[in-house]
Parts: sequence; C-alpha cells; structure tokens
Amino acid sequence: MTEKIPANNTWQTAVTQLDSVSKLMMLSEDVHQLLRNFERILTVSIPIRMDNGSLRIFNGFRVQHNSARGPYKGGVRYHPELTLDDLKALAMEMTWKCSLAGVPFGGAKGGIICNPKTLSKSEIERLTRRYTYAIMPIIGIEKDIPAPDVNTNEQIMAWMMDTYSMNNGYCTPGIVTGKPVNIGGSLGRTDATGLGITFALANAVKSRKMDFKGLKVAIQGYGNVGSTVGKLLGEMGCKIVAVSSSKGGVYNSRGLSHTALMKHYKEHGSFEEFPHAENITNEALLELPCDVLIPAALANQITKENAAKIKAKLIVEGANGPTTLEADQILAERKIPVVPDILANAGGVIVSYFEWVQDVQCYFWCETEVNMRLENLLNRSYEEVFSLSHERKVNLRTAALILAVKKVVDAIQVRGLYP
Ligand code: NAD
Repeated sequence: MTEKIPANNTWQTAVTQLDSVSKLMMLSEDVHQLLRNFERILTVSIPIRMDNGSLRIFNGFRVQHNSARGPYKGGVRYHPELTLDDLKALAMEMTWKCSLAGVPFGGAKGGIICNPKTLSKSEIERLTRRYTYAIMPIIGIEKDIPAPDVNTNEQIMAWMMDTYSMNNGYCTPGIVTGKPVNIGGSLGRTDATGLGITFALANAVKSRKMDFKGLKVAIQGYGNVGSTVGKLLGEMGCKIVAVSSSKGGVYNSRGLSHTALMKHYKEHGSFEEFPHAENITNEALLELPCDVLIPAALANQITKENAAKIKAKLIVEGANGPTTLEADQILAERKIPVVPDILANAGGVIVSYFEWVQDVQCYFWCETEVNMRLENLLNRSYEEVFSLSHERKVNLRTAALILAVKKVVDAIQVRGLYP
C-alpha cells in the first residue's frame, strides 16, 4: 500500500521521481517498495545548557535510507525550518548520488532544528557534541559517516569527530568527512562540490556546443558551494553577473568581482549596496538574462510560478532539490537542460569518499591527485548520463536516476533478503 504524502514538499518530489523511474525501469513492486522505505529513522532530543544558564531542548534526526551498496553517507544540516520530510528526501537523494558516482556508500542525512545564527559558538559546540552523542549508536566508520551541509562546517565536523573519539576511546578520524586537514581531512574537500559543478558545467557546455569563455552566470546562494563556483568560474573566464544570500542579491550584466563580493559580504553581512551593482531579490535573480543559472541555496526555488520566466539557456543544480516537479516539466518543454543535483553537486560526496579512504588507509594524497580523481569520476558520470539520456530520449535527471537506481537494485538483488 502506497503511503499518502502531503503535497508540495521535497519528500513528495523525491518519491514521485522514484515512482516514475521505477515505472520506466519496470521494477517489481517489491523492489520499488524497498526503495520507497527507509532502513532507519532516529529522532533525538538534545538538551543544552544555554549561555544564560537556561535549559533548551532541540530536536535532531538521523535518517538512513539504504545501505545496499555500502555504509550510509550524508550531511548534517542545522536550520530553523528543517523537517523530517526534508531529511528523508535528502537521504534518498544521497543513495542515488553515491550510486551514480560509483562510490561505495548508501544514503543518509541528519540535522537539528535550530537557527545557528542566534546561538553562540559555545552553544553550537554543546549542541553538536550532544547531538553526536545521541546518534552515536547508529554512526561509525563502517556504519554511517556524517559530513557538513547547510550551516555546518569543518569546525562542527571536528567537534563531532572529537566527541565520537572520546566516547570510542581512541582517535577515529574516519567517523566524519569534511573535517580540517590537520585531523584527517582531505586536501581539496572544501572546494570539491564547487569544483565538481564546474566540471559538470564544462561537460554540459561542451555537449551543447556553447562557448565556455564569457558565459554569463547567475548564482543563487553564495555560501560554501555558490562562492566556490563563483571564484572558480571567474578564474576560468566566465562572467558572474549575479549572486545572492538569504538577504537578497546583486546584479551587474558586465560581471562582478568575486574578491570584492567576499570582502563586501564580510564587512556588511550581505551583498546589498555592493558598489556598481543593482540590488535584486532572490526571486528576481532566477529570472535574469544570463547563459547559466546555478541555484546553490535551498530546495524548491525553481517552481511552476517562475520556470516559464527563466531566461538562462542551461541550469546546473548546485543545491539539492532546487527544482520542483512542475518546474522540471516546464523547463523540459522549453528545452532548457537541467544538470541534476545528483550529478552536478556530487563533487562533495566524491571527495568525502576520498577523505574516508585516506583516513582508513592513514595515507594522504596531494590536492592535484584528489582533483584529478574527482574530475575522472565526474566526467565518467556525465558521459554515462548524457549517453543514456540520448539513448532513452529522457532528460538528464531521469537518465541519472535510472543509472543510480539500477546499481542499488542490482545490489539489493544480489544480496537477497535477510533472513
Ligand atoms: P551554505 O549555508 O554555505 O550557503 C547557503 C547559501 O544560501 C548562503 O549564501 C545563504 O545566505 C543562502 N540562502 C539561505 N537561505 C536562502 C533563501 N531562502 N534564498 C536564497 N538564498 C538563501 O550552504 P552550502 O554548503 O553552500 O549548501 C548550499 C546547497 O548546496 C544546499 O542545498 C546543500 O544541500 C547543497 N550541497 C552542498 C554541498 C557541500 O559540500 N556543502 C554538497 C552538495 C550539495
């Protein structure tokens, strides 16, 4: 029996996408139901002593979707509007992302409902440590390996690694990825998602026979992912015409300087009033005249309301789930290709895998080697997705999902059902 899902949420999008590729692939209903369900969902309450002496209880989660191909892998998100449905969608997406990239992990995601902007550094540290302690029974180097996501960073990963190690009785660097290099992080991890997006864009541009140099690019969300993409694309000769944060953005058709943008953001906490640029809203950014649009903020930004107004010739999904189902349809009708999240932003999890491999081996690679291996994996993935999309006459997202789901299904079938 198929469960009823509330309309218009990220989980609905993820599960509808799975339902439609399952049909295309003619999967048995048994396998389809296995993929629709989760192996484990843990809800934890996290009591924290605040700086003013009061006690506050936060809610946290760790969602483990599927481990047919290997240990669970997925980020940890801190956000005031986080829901369990978001995490279910993101965990399922991680299963597909790891599978598509060919890294031997399953999918998971976790997080805490909190607004880190209203918490002090020491409150965030206590929150992180208590959350790690609460999810300890289900994480581990060979079980589930967390990583950073929205509003979490390498410092938070260092606290998670330390908390786990203290409880474990010995230093356990491989328990998380995205940690600082001096405690077992990988060179190249910080820029990996952004760098991966540039490889995906280069492949898409090549297959569309567009000229890479001088491409006008608009980036929604200039955080870890967006700002790395902006910096790298700027260095490669593209023009970054618009960027934004949650407070809004700026636009200049002649291009914006990454260094000046970062300086302005550091000084003012937003991009507003950036010199020689027009202030714009996040909604307006999506509809600007440009060649490439890179949504790199949150989910559900490209919707049925704005998809018809998008002027970009190509969309590369930096964020997870930025395009709704209805918008995907409209963009397909308008022949605007969308390089899907599970392909475009897989750089982070690929280098996370490299970090885990290096931690387990206690042998570390130079950045050139990391980046070269990343480029090889992503180019191979893009090629596979692009060929299948031509062969089956489906869009890139459907092709990527078919490839990813197939590898998971093969693993489920060869492993069989326990007991
Ligand atoms: P981040 O927190 O560093 O940056 C997010 C950016 O989005 C910030 O500029 C923020 O101001 C902006 N933002 C927040 N709310 C917004 C809103 N309502 N409208 C517009 N902008 C808004 O996060 P990040 O790590 O850069 O992640 C961004 C996206 O990329 C997320 O969807 C994340 O899941 C996805 N992603 C991240 C990684 C990674 O390695 N960090 C890997 C894969 C996918």
